[in-house]
Amino acid sequence: MPVYEFECQCGHMFEELVPMNTKSRQCPQCGAQEAKKILSACTFELKGGGWYADGYASTQK
Ligand SMILES: [Zn+2]
Repeated sequence: MPVYEFECQCGHMFEELVPMNTKSRQCPQCGAQEAKKILSACTFELKGGGWYADGYASTQK
């Protein structure tokens, strides 16, 4: 299971190991039920594939 970052309504952030289809968690700091999953840079990189590699290549030429 991947580690995801969550942010609740009042701005608390925490990381938790959850199944991929988990969309929200309870905030451990204030107990809010709707802490939302944040797409971390790591996840974004995996999903994006070569978008930044392309940009890098174009600036080099
Ligand atoms: Zn909170």
